[in-house]
Amino acid sequence: MTTVILDCYTDEPAGLGVPPYLGTYPRYLAGWLKSQGQEYIYLTIDDVRLWKNYGGKKIVPKKSQKTDIFTYNLTNNADNVHKILENCSEMYIICGVHVPGKYLSAMPGTLHEVSKLVQNLKCRKILMGPVVFGTSLHGGKESEIVDENKFEIGEYDFNFAEAKKYSVLGADILQCIPDIRVLEIETGKGCQRLKGCSFCTEPLKNKFVCRPNDDILEEMKALYDNGARYFRLGKQACIYAQPDLPALLKNIRKAMPEIKVLHIDNVNPVNVIGKNGEEYTKAIVEYCTEANVAAMGVESFDPTVVAENFLNTTPELTYRAIAIINKYGKERGPNGMPKFIPGINLIYGLKGETKETNAHNLKWLHKIIDDGFLLRRINIRQVAVMDNTPLKEMGGLKFLHKNKRYYWKWRNQVRQEIDVPMLEKITPVGTVLHDIYTEIYDGNTTFCRQFGTYPLIVGVKGRLPLKQFISIRVTGHMKRSIIGEAVLQN
Ligand code: SF4
Repeated sequence: MTTVILDCYTDEPAGLGVPPYLGTYPRYLAGWLKSQGQEYIYLTIDDVRLWKNYGGKKIVPKKSQKTDIFTYNLTNNADNVHKILENCSEMYIICGVHVPGKYLSAMPGTLHEVSKLVQNLKCRKILMGPVVFGTSLHGGKESEIVDENKFEIGEYDFNFAEAKKYSVLGADILQCIPDIRVLEIETGKGCQRLKGCSFCTEPLKNKFVCRPNDDILEEMKALYDNGARYFRLGKQACIYAQPDLPALLKNIRKAMPEIKVLHIDNVNPVNVIGKNGEEYTKAIVEYCTEANVAAMGVESFDPTVVAENFLNTTPELTYRAIAIINKYGKERGPNGMPKFIPGINLIYGLKGETKETNAHNLKWLHKIIDDGFLLRRINIRQVAVMDNTPLKEMGGLKFLHKNKRYYWKWRNQVRQEIDVPMLEKITPVGTVLHDIYTEIYDGNTTFCRQFGTYPLIVGVKGRLPLKQFISIRVTGHMKRSIIGEAVLQN
């Protein structure tokens, strides 16, 4: 009998596990199973979709078609799915999206889809991951809640002492995956703030604790020895909260000289302007690779919204953090992108939002651009109301519904007035970018990007061979992506 880990992909405020990212859940789980003397087989939801919906026949898109991102991320086990599932006695299903996004080359499974895909299997079905707190693939909706008649809820609550062992043991899960993966590395749980932001599930899930630097290093080395070269220190609320971050980064580079990408993710602006802020910023610029982004959960520049949702930063503090990161990180690195610049997350549908909220957002964003600072990306979403959050208790979706009719207009204004000129500053026409990976087709366009945190999407005319590295020259700009032409890779 077989134990299967079915990865339906995860996306949380602190932690990404949607390809090309590989999250911590399947890796730690694989290690835990091994520690119990149990072998496992790793499958993705793409493997199961291909078997169930297409009889296992791989899809080659016609010239006019888009690459099928529902079946793009197959494992080395894809050809044997039928047999594997026939023999399956236990299936651990990892699932859950808490920060809905758009994914270029993957599509996370919804609970509805996963339930249908596995409904006829006779095995134990154990759900794990963010899904146990609900899941929502689209903002502006209530989350899907688990039907406990269909699934068991798995205990997945490894503390860092357990993670130390399981993360190393589970590193060989990479042997099941034929394509490049960016390894999301956990450095902390929970949030430093005593009272969290109104919409966020992180304080509900975990108490604040940082993972020991030696454990992080040991796990990364095990993954590196299994072929990993692309890493993001991304599973935490703020990487600046990590004790002695400069030493950690320096030791990573020393122990793993062939790393191609080392990036970070979440940053609390308040820590950037704090005691270690400048020292940490300099270390990130020195030891991480270029095109690095500090994703800052600003959520709103409207002071009323900040106060009523207990948000973690004010517009003034955010501005100061943006200035510090730009001071050290703005310069370009070898792949053509700035070394380290900030990104901003904005949420609409929070308590206290009025028609003035977007004017506050635009005022500050214009100031940032006018003062010569770079921002890599502005992530705008409608709030997803998760169970048990203060927002749900204060009124849930009613704040979103109040201004819903303005949402697309507001979003468009930010895209037109801020994103486009910002993209033109970051990648002026003629800029050459290297290490661009060809990922999917859409009609006669190949969409490509660099590996790493919040990579820029590049549209190149023609259907180039997929899964290859190329260099491109920038020829134009869209709202959130660029247009390029292929040039010879150095
Ligand atoms: S700062 Fe706010 S959004 Fe970030 S982890 Fe803490 S509670 Fe969540």
